[in-house]
Amino acid sequence: MSGRILLIEDDADLAGMLGRVLRDEGYAVKVASDGHTGLHVALTRPFDAMIVDRGLPAVEGLDLIARLRSRGVGTPILVLSARNSTDDRVEGLDAGAEDYLTKPFELTELLARVRALQRRHLDHAEQLAVPGGLLDLSTRTVRQAAGGRVELSEREADLLGLLAARPGVVFSRADLLDRVFDDAESETVVDTYVHYCRRKLGQGVISTVRGLGYRLGGT
Ligand code: CA
Repeated sequence: MSGRILLIEDDADLAGMLGRVLRDEGYAVKVASDGHTGLHVALTRPFDAMIVDRGLPAVEGLDLIARLRSRGVGTPILVLSARNSTDDRVEGLDAGAEDYLTKPFELTELLARVRALQRRHLDHAEQLAVPGGLLDLSTRTVRQAAGGRVELSEREADLLGLLAARPGVVFSRADLLDRVFDDAESETVVDTYVHYCRRKLGQGVISTVRGLGYRLGGT
């Protein structure tokens, strides 16, 4: 199987080993070594599955998962934990994780669980409603209700996907710059990509909220 996996693990040896094993299996792996970085990456890039260590510096694993879920990120998550009580497992699942694996674990079991997570993800393909159609984040296309498909660039899809995941929420330009264009410096890049999205999908796809920022249109 292949897919994009975000691995958030502060144990460098374990992260390195898991990264190699997952890449050997054909996955594209991004590693984050603390909760703060992991949260930022998870909010700004699409993944097919995440593996999250429970004990992380900066932002603790379950807190990170709860924050992702509250922001509308539905990517399936497997929690790794050194703790093995029923209460710990229940806490992990209640925080929004799909699965929970106790350290130490067998690699074959980890890989099987990741495959299971991915199948679950494929069953719920990342599709978000946008004005006039449906945005598919995995293919970066908008299937229009009127018929036809519009292809988006990675940045356009990231921007529209972020807005569509939280319809009704107004995002400031600074927030969008930080979450979608982390290597850019000027907020005008946000305006430029809003313009690109409108040109492809119509003026109403993203609304300007004067003095505040942008939100998904028509909501
Ligand atoms: Ca740890």
